[in-house]
Amino acid sequence: MRIYTVPHHWIRRTVTTGVMLLLVVMVLGVIHRPGPALGTAAPLQPVDRYSLRDVTTNQKVAALTFDISWGTVMPTKVFDILKRDHVAATFFVSGPWARQNAALVKAMADAGYEVESHGWAHVNYTGLSNAGVQENIQKANQVIKDITGQAPTFVRPPNGDFSPRTIAAAKQIGYTTVTWGTDSLDWMNPGVGTIIRRVVTRIHPGDIVLMHASDTCKQTDIALPTIIQDLKQKGYQLVTMKKLLTYGTPNYRG
Ligand SMILES: [Zn+2]
Repeated sequence: MRIYTVPHHWIRRTVTTGVMLLLVVMVLGVIHRPGPALGTAAPLQPVDRYSLRDVTTNQKVAALTFDISWGTVMPTKVFDILKRDHVAATFFVSGPWARQNAALVKAMADAGYEVESHGWAHVNYTGLSNAGVQENIQKANQVIKDITGQAPTFVRPPNGDFSPRTIAAAKQIGYTTVTWGTDSLDWMNPGVGTIIRRVVTRIHPGDIVLMHASDTCKQTDIALPTIIQDLKQKGYQLVTMKKLLTYGTPNYRG
C-alpha cells in the first residue's frame, strides 16, 4: 500500500496564503464599508435635529428678529423705531397677519427689512403631520411672496416648537427652522428693565435675538431704543438673518 504524505512546505505555503487572503478581505471590508441598509436610519446631524440658533463668528454682529401675528399698533411702532435708528432687522410674520396688513409688510420689504415666515395657524408643529407642517408653511409662503415679491426661506415655528420630524418636513420644502440664541422674553411683558437686561447681558457675536411686535406685547417699543443704543455702544452691527449667515458657521442646537 502507498502512504500519501503532504510535504511540510506545502502546508506552510497554504496557511500563509490563507492568512494573507483573510487580511486582504478584512482591509477591504473596512475601506469599502457598506452604507446603511435601506430602512436603517443614519445618525442625525444637528442640522437635521435642531433649529438654527446663532452663528459662530468672532465679529460683533447680531440679528434682531420680531415675530408678528396680531395687531397693528406695536408692529408699526417697532418698524418706525428701527427705521428712525437705521437698524436692520428681520420680521417673522404669520400668513394671516401679513394678508390683513399687506401694505405694512410691503413697506417693510421695500425699506430693506427681511420678511420671513411665522407660518399660518399659530399651532405647535409637533402636533401636525408632515403634510400639515408643510401646508402651514406653504400657505404663508404664498401670501408673503405675493406681497414682497420674494419667498421666505426661514420659518420661526409657532411657540418655538419643533422636532427632528418637523425640521425635516420644513427642509423638504426649502425652509430652515430658526429659533433664537437669546430670548428677550418680551412676550411675557416682564417689565421694560427685564427685557433690556435679558438682551444686553446675553448678546454674543452671531446671536439671533427673539423679540415680538404683536399687540399682545406691551413693552417692546419702550425697551427697543435702549437695547439698540446699548448694542451699538458695545460695538455691535445689527443685520438681517440672511446677512448674519454670511459672517460664519450656523449653529443648530437643541
Ligand atoms: Zn408667535
